[in-house]
Amino acid sequence: MKEIVVNLHECKHCNSSGTCKNGNDGSSCLACAKKNDISFWRQKNQFGLLCGSCGGIGNAEPLTERMHNRTAPMLAIYLIISLLSIILWAALNESQFFSELLVFSSTIIGSIVGYYFSNKGN
Ligand SMILES: [Zn+2]
Ligand SMILES: [Zn+2]
Repeated sequence: MKEIVVNLHECKHCNSSGTCKNGNDGSSCLACAKKNDISFWRQKNQFGLLCGSCGGIGNAEPLTERMHNRTAPMLAIYLIISLLSIILWAALNESQFFSELLVFSSTIIGSIVGYYFSNKGN
């Protein structure tokens, strides 16, 4: 895991050419046609469109950076689920810490939910 950190890596989608050729017979794929704002009816069999994955520069942002943008919400959901199961477990076992757990968990869940809902508009 001690790789040298690079900001950009070669785009796999277009083989660093910057042009998408992933459709039929070397045409551009539908995903890239969409990103190029080609109207729905003409998305098939477009040639030489800019690669939608890298924006035509042949290099894409590292996967880790993209992962980071997705792991945060995933982590929040995971956290909420585990907190809820802890509460459920405490309730089923009539734990003496139930009320403390409930307050603790609802505070965390509340702040997570509040955070994501308040950021939705952005
Ligand atoms: Zn590309
Ligand atoms: Zn494509």
